[in-house]
Amino acid sequence: NLHELIDRLHKEHTLTKEEFITLIKERNEESASYLASLAREEAVNIYGNGVFPRGLVEFTNYCKNNCYYCGIQGSNPNANRYRLSKEEILSACENGYQLGYRSFVLQGGEDPHYTDEVMVPIVAEIRKRYPDCAITLSLGERSKESYQKLYDAGADRYLLRHEAADPELYQKLHPESLSLENRIQCLWNLKEIGYAVGTGFMVGAPYQTVENLADDLLFIKELDPQMVGIGPFVPHHDTRFKEFPSGSVELTTYLVSILRLMNPHLLLPSTTALGTIDPRGREKGILAGANVVMPNLSPVAVRKDYSLYDNKICTGEEAAECAGCLGRRLASIDYQLVFSRGDYIE
Ligand code: SAM
Repeated sequence: NLHELIDRLHKEHTLTKEEFITLIKERNEESASYLASLAREEAVNIYGNGVFPRGLVEFTNYCKNNCYYCGIQGSNPNANRYRLSKEEILSACENGYQLGYRSFVLQGGEDPHYTDEVMVPIVAEIRKRYPDCAITLSLGERSKESYQKLYDAGADRYLLRHEAADPELYQKLHPESLSLENRIQCLWNLKEIGYAVGTGFMVGAPYQTVENLADDLLFIKELDPQMVGIGPFVPHHDTRFKEFPSGSVELTTYLVSILRLMNPHLLLPSTTALGTIDPRGREKGILAGANVVMPNLSPVAVRKDYSLYDNKICTGEEAAECAGCLGRRLASIDYQLVFSRGDYIE
């Protein structure tokens, strides 16, 4: 029965909500391994045995929002706040460029300091210095005009996880000041402007049900993004969710495989959160069909302060060490880092 569902997902790239629920609820080791083998095959057919590294610059941990799960939420008095200057961001990119990276991700909390007046010149300078690189932004919700200005300045991609496609769950994870409606509108705006768009959600978030996950998959089907980032929820000790358990590697990788079959062309990261809850989590993500990793290029002095959840890995290593470590990890499963822009293949 599960094999039949998986074969149909493989062929038709979607299932009904009820079928997704069955596929998730009734999963077992055998279905996971069948799903992963098809997912891996699809990824290798399109992208080969290569994994694209994106150099991540976590440039601010100030945030005006209060997402209940997040360690850098504005109301956490224990977060040690930092902001990187334009020069510091550029120097992180230069370090990455010298190491071979051709794809940068600037990510931060929703920090009002980085207005368009501040952000546009940063993006424009990166674009000017590195015309051969992809620039991805992950700055949260902004106006369509702002997204347009950043795009015109040279940004090509934008990551904005929808977090939860079910409005009730969304509201259990966020304060009233944040709405699912606006988040989704942002995603459509980004698409319309021409960004390559990434969305996603946490696996095993507090209160999340299998029905919720099926809704997430169907929302992703409808949005048809180029990238999907999913990682396990991991508790942070300063949040109201501190007592909730982490999501599991097993369910996260199962969903990675489902996403790969829903769209074989997807750019799918094997996330740092996955590597945090299991020392071989990122390798497991790749073997389930992921094809992107996001090593950190932020200055080591601020790494540990971008603390979204507890025990985050890779907070002590220099960028060069991270690339070396990931390269060795991938080699151990017969994959390799491919230092290119790593564009979505239509
Ligand atoms: N502020 C931007 C935004 O809202 O998209 C980008 C930064 S935000 C910290 C990046 C992602 O971190 C979120 O989309 C969320 O899914 C993830 N995240 C936050 N807290 C987490 C936690 N406790 N466990 C796992 N992932 C978490």
